[in-house]
Amino acid sequence: MTEIKNLTIDELKDELRAMGEKPFRAGQIFKWLHEGVRSFDQMSNLSKELRAALAARYVLTVPEVARKQVSRIDGTVKYLWRMRDGDCVESVLMHYEHGNTACVSTQVGCRMGCKFCASGLNGLKRQLSAGEILDEVLFMQQDSGEKISNIVLMGTGEPLDNYEQVLRFLRLVSCPEGLNIGQRHISLSTSGIADKIERLAEEKLQITLSVSLHAPDDETRSAIMPVNSAYPIERLMRACNYYFDKTGRRISYEYMMARDKTDRPWQAERLARLLRGRPAHVNLIPLNEVAESPLSPSSKDAVRRFQAALQKHGVTATVRRRLGPDIDAACGQLRRRELET
Ligand code: SAH
Ligand code: SF4
Repeated sequence: MTEIKNLTIDELKDELRAMGEKPFRAGQIFKWLHEGVRSFDQMSNLSKELRAALAARYVLTVPEVARKQVSRIDGTVKYLWRMRDGDCVESVLMHYEHGNTACVSTQVGCRMGCKFCASGLNGLKRQLSAGEILDEVLFMQQDSGEKISNIVLMGTGEPLDNYEQVLRFLRLVSCPEGLNIGQRHISLSTSGIADKIERLAEEKLQITLSVSLHAPDDETRSAIMPVNSAYPIERLMRACNYYFDKTGRRISYEYMMARDKTDRPWQAERLARLLRGRPAHVNLIPLNEVAESPLSPSSKDAVRRFQAALQKHGVTATVRRRLGPDIDAACGQLRRRELET
């Protein structure tokens, strides 16, 4: 059966027409769905018959909160959702000055195998549907009672490895009849699947593309990110140029600071050379320690020196603040812990 939340409003109109219903019902149903109703029976402006017909025809996904942790330090909330097949995914709600931000997962697990990341330790279990990704936002908003205004696709999973569903999610979440979160308030982070970046460029979306670069030289990058063997840095940068040419959107580069691995002075110089003259912004992320990974975080001094070296060459770089440190809510720490217990 089709998951009804995967449908766009136009698709829903077609479905209703096919059921012999008036297409304007689609607007009412879409609104209910994007308010996070828990059953078709809650759609109080529809007839009993139509509600029953919908229930017979479609699946309404309603994830359960399997676990919820609130950071005592900064109020960041980490959710573990149990979906209808029992699989679980995590999402994080962060409070920034510019608004509440939902960090959502796009896959159950991840197959990219980055050496520093806890999300991919068990490989890819399955793709999430567009509706399931949307549910993370809808039900975080419902559970917290807080309005979400920004979204980052930086939870578990490689969004461009679930291309169709992620694109559909972007269209659903920015739909004026739904949550209406503008594309400029959405960031998609990728480990650098170059041909998918080029495909995304063709969609001409206004979202921010974040590229997890983490090293400016192929030797280091291939050692920590297997994707670099398929799409080495030069190939990746070509895709980034193309993305900017097509969309006019400045790209953000994530750069993880790992001691004696990615934070060496020559790497700052090399990174500056790579990005100089490009519309780019670098986010320096202190590595979050993951038990299974041999990498350790750079010192504060090393981070500052690296940032200064970039700035000297005119490359803007900020150091990312780490939210929810007491609940492992930070980048790369999301994982399906229930697997281990
Ligand atoms: N798969 C996508 C998006 C999810 S990961 C990607 O890789 O970009 C979100 C961000 O967290 C990425 O920049 C990723 O490289 C980073 N990350 C993963 N593990 C980390 C760790 N242990 N410390 C710091 N950042 C990490
Ligand atoms: Fe997957 Fe991103 Fe983790 Fe790499 S960093 S394993 S791409 S989630």
